[in-house]
Amino acid sequence: MERAEVIIVGSGHGGAQAAIALRQKGFEGSIAIVTRDREPPYERPPLSKDYLAGDKPFEKLLLRPEKFWADKQIDLLTGLGVTAIDPAAKTIECGEDRSIGYGQLIWAAGGNARRLSCSGADYRNVHTIRNRADTDRLRADIDAGAKRAVIVGAGYIGLEAAAVMRQRCLDVTVLEAQDRVLARVAGPELSDFYAAQHRARGVDLRLDTQLESILGEGERAHAVRLPGGEEIAADLVVFGVGIVPSIGPLIAAGAAGSNGIDVDEFCRTSLDDIFAIGDCAAHANDFAAGAVIRLESVQNANDMANVAAATICGDPRPYHAVPWFWSNQYDLRLQTVGLSIDYDACVIRGDPAEASFSVVYLREGRVIALDCVNRTKDYAQGRKLVEARLEASADDLADIERPLKDLL
Ligand code: FAD
Repeated sequence: MERAEVIIVGSGHGGAQAAIALRQKGFEGSIAIVTRDREPPYERPPLSKDYLAGDKPFEKLLLRPEKFWADKQIDLLTGLGVTAIDPAAKTIECGEDRSIGYGQLIWAAGGNARRLSCSGADYRNVHTIRNRADTDRLRADIDAGAKRAVIVGAGYIGLEAAAVMRQRCLDVTVLEAQDRVLARVAGPELSDFYAAQHRARGVDLRLDTQLESILGEGERAHAVRLPGGEEIAADLVVFGVGIVPSIGPLIAAGAAGSNGIDVDEFCRTSLDDIFAIGDCAAHANDFAAGAVIRLESVQNANDMANVAAATICGDPRPYHAVPWFWSNQYDLRLQTVGLSIDYDACVIRGDPAEASFSVVYLREGRVIALDCVNRTKDYAQGRKLVEARLEASADDLADIERPLKDLL
């Protein structure tokens, strides 16, 4: 039977970084990455940004040049899905006829894009954006002359896709069930700003609006229907409604978890010698006041990968990394640091009307997060404020003449 001392399931940011970190820390045993992806490890953020726009070739998305993996003696088993795990025998099953033994297992399987279960959701021109094939299919529809797009969901991915499609001159309608955009991740100040920016650029943004069904003929959708009966014509539809964590085989093997695999501060699951990292790992986060959450970000995937690798190498260090994230829409570069969950006050620094401002979030008078729009300095300096959970006055935070680092 095949065997590797460390098997990593998934070749996204988490899986790739876990292998890189193991080698950087001097791990000399055999490492195999088993992944459903057909490509070598690549980054996902451009899939809804410059790769969707056609501004960046796929080769530029590769996390490392293709020969890196062979040079580092990391086996890349691509196009291979793990279907079951036997934690007693320490094996993974890939379909019916391939079983691979492991010494330690790192589960870095991310998640699958969620599709709403309404009628018409399976038409060929109804898209999600999670991997290269998804974006290639969407791009093919745009390149074939699609004129009208309906995007369901106004989170980061939906809004980024809306921005790209407006720039490619499609008519874009965004349907959002909540009363503001980015409701899950930001405060109303940022939501209002982004809603106004998209509307100013011609997006028909419908808040408090649910999708009822997708109408079509043959294999293709041609409209969406709203609950009141209104129909909106569509040459393509995109679901941007989050992910379902990819955890089935690990839960079936007995790992604790529900919305994600539960892990401790060293990214260990409840099963011996099995770690979980990245989008699929539910962990108590210091920057969310210890609440158990899943974070869907490159930062979290990379930093958890480093924690799991260090633990395997006998140098355990608890996960304590400041969350950060970015989003590009039109000429707006958003950079966020910290988590604004449960903030009780916020301060605007700069001028939203000039598209250069930061929202500083506080809890009990202490800085817990910043959302910075075209203000990279605030982002870089604000990080230290978040790390220190700095107590700061609203006047000081709002004073743009005063660099944030001076408040420390
Ligand atoms: P993933 O990158 O999802 O990798 C999961 C891997 O597991 C894949 O290789 C998959 O094929 C494999 N896999 C799944 N199930 C199995 C199985 N059973 N067997 C074998 N292999 C399996 N984050 C940011 O910080 N900033 C951004 O701007 C940003 N933009 C994004 C835009 C898009 C379109 C998307 C999709 C994500 C974006 N993210 C962004 C989120 C970020 O990409 C994810 O948080 C990150 O990729 C998570 O890494 P991961 O390794 O946990 O999972």
